Amino acid sequence: MLELLLLTVTALLGLAVGSFLNVVIYRVPRGESVVSPGSHCPHCGSAVRSRHNIPVLSWLLLRGKCADCRGPISGRYPLVEAGTAVLFVAVAAKFGLSWELPAYLYLAAIAIALAVIDLDVKRLPNVIVLPSYVVALALLVPAAIAEHSWAAIVRGAVAGIVLYAFFFFLTIFRMGMGDVKLAGLLGLYLGWLGWNAAVVGAFAGFLIGGLVGGLLWLMRLADRKSRFPYGPAMLAGAFVAVFAGPAIADWYLSLAVPGA
Ligand SMILES: [Zn+2]
Repeated sequence: MLELLLLTVTALLGLAVGSFLNVVIYRVPRGESVVSPGSHCPHCGSAVRSRHNIPVLSWLLLRGKCADCRGPISGRYPLVEAGTAVLFVAVAAKFGLSWELPAYLYLAAIAIALAVIDLDVKRLPNVIVLPSYVVALALLVPAAIAEHSWAAIVRGAVAGIVLYAFFFFLTIFRMGMGDVKLAGLLGLYLGWLGWNAAVVGAFAGFLIGGLVGGLLWLMRLADRKSRFPYGPAMLAGAFVAVFAGPAIADWYLSLAVPGA
């Protein structure tokens, strides 16, 4: 019963946060404030009324059109809102009502914003990534104190430094500095969960990035010189590790070391 209540609350929270992420995704790459002015139609500039600002539902009721000028409103808005709600529910189901839950919900929120922004403009803005180190520590350190899990926070810090250094080394193979800074943050989060999560997360990111990059190349949508946005693959890899890191590590070790 408590579980159902938690999942319902996080679903609603995810919809509301997703609505805000749409503002972040649109405005941050343009260097605009995410606080003011209020949301307005990109076609006619009229302010979005609060009754038309309900996540997903408003877009469906208005059939993807502005209430004033009937100009098309991208289907990406409800998708980001619904996607955030789904990821929030999955994170809440994984962590339950725990001290880590807020930290990983925050990770889910910035993951969606960063993935879409990177696909849009091939950039992972410092204004999101750098403050996230502070937010992550501000949420995980109290969790470490409350749960006496100092080993987790130390492992997170070390994994963050290791992944940062490893990705920094990869800049000689044209890995972007935005990806390096994101790798450090993901290392902190995955290291908290365990070394196997950090390793699985990094390699799942490479695997997803390599598969998608290879597929785009095969479909002639990219060539060797294309700047490939690697952020979404890293973030997807990190969430594979959050949800299935230990299971994947055990499975891999059972293949590599028969009888282990
Ligand atoms: Zn309009």
